[in-house]
Amino acid sequence: MKHTCSTIIFHCIDFRFAADIKAYMEKEGLMGDVDVVSIAGAVKNLVNPAQPTDVEFVLRQLDISKRLHDVCRVVLMNHTDCGAYGGRKAFASMEEERAKHAEDLEAARNMILEKYPDLEVLKTIAHIDDAGTISFQTA
Ligand SMILES: [Zn+2]
Repeated sequence: MKHTCSTIIFHCIDFRFAADIKAYMEKEGLMGDVDVVSIAGAVKNLVNPAQPTDVEFVLRQLDISKRLHDVCRVVLMNHTDCGAYGGRKAFASMEEERAKHAEDLEAARNMILEKYPDLEVLKTIAHIDDAGTISFQTA
């Protein structure tokens, strides 16, 4: 049995997104072809870690995935109304919140590319509206 996969995805633990993230992965053709890392706050652990060791932890997951499964693509996925960022209420507007996630995703992408310039790194924001409807946007 093949023991490699194309992609590793980093997304938040937030249960509200689980079903939609699964659907996203199916739509992108990633099911059975992706390593999944679920951590509270997703790329916040790289860009603004609660503990300095969080950065090492996240990069180690990528290193293991690359070494063992030969991944060539990384999907970084943050989401709006993320508790690790203080939720939606931590931002003055939806635009400000999206801009913060886009900024953090880009910073995380650059950190990864600095260490692994051969990887393709994609950035996605999962947006949840007040009704709980989730949509995915390229950042
Ligand atoms: Zn979250």
